[in-house]
Amino acid sequence: MSGGRQISLCHSYTWGRRLSDRVFQFMAGPLDRAKNRLLARLNSEDLALLSASASQVDLEKGRVLYDPGDAITSIYFPSDGVISLLTLMEGGEAIESGAIGREGALGLEAATGPGESLSRAIVQVPGHALRIPAALGQDLWKRSPTFRDLADRHGQAVYAHAVQSVACNALHSVEARFCRWLLACRDRIDVDTVQLTQEFLADMLGVQRTTVTAVAQTLQTKSLIRYRRGVVDILDRAGLEAVTCECYGSVQRTYQRLFGRAPG
Ligand SMILES: [Zn+2]
Repeated sequence: MSGGRQISLCHSYTWGRRLSDRVFQFMAGPLDRAKNRLLARLNSEDLALLSASASQVDLEKGRVLYDPGDAITSIYFPSDGVISLLTLMEGGEAIESGAIGREGALGLEAATGPGESLSRAIVQVPGHALRIPAALGQDLWKRSPTFRDLADRHGQAVYAHAVQSVACNALHSVEARFCRWLLACRDRIDVDTVQLTQEFLADMLGVQRTTVTAVAQTLQTKSLIRYRRGVVDILDRAGLEAVTCECYGSVQRTYQRLFGRAPG
């Protein structure tokens, strides 16, 4: 991927206190990369190694980071924004099978060895991320038990999310899934306003745009959201939790078990 700004902090110092200071400066930079929950759990040595080859990248809305079959050459650690994982059909249909925000990383599975993307990874809520080469992830995997443990747990969480989404997409109403999507999105950002188009949301939910419109109008009638052109305002979070399906809580509990806290 292109467009990143290289960050190189590790060329002129050695391990130890000075390194820790540099790492602190790195973590306290303009983007506050500690907002990524995985990076926040790494020790200073791992962070220093990571920062040596890290790039700061903007996640522009609609940007496709990977398509199915693409070699995973980079790992992205978002500090904000949301990346959707879409399963694509030959006929052009799509449906969301996972989402990654500041609680996780995109492409982390490539840390165990060369890998191909199974999904389209597309930015649904714009933000920022720290990007490292997949080869560096493989180095960290070999040398750092902490990194291995985090990558293992993250893999379990992504798998749990995908498994739950299979059942949710087949068995639960569009209204419940719409609410689940909004809540999961809200957990990963710090505002109650989400910018999205009907087309985008239709892809997320695997339904027609007219269905999205009807469901949005229903939720608006219940005063749970306000839906304007391309913008959804969350008005009543508790109300959305009452309408959504069990899948939202199930995924929350999985993250809680694996990381000691829910996404967000
Ligand atoms: Zn569900």
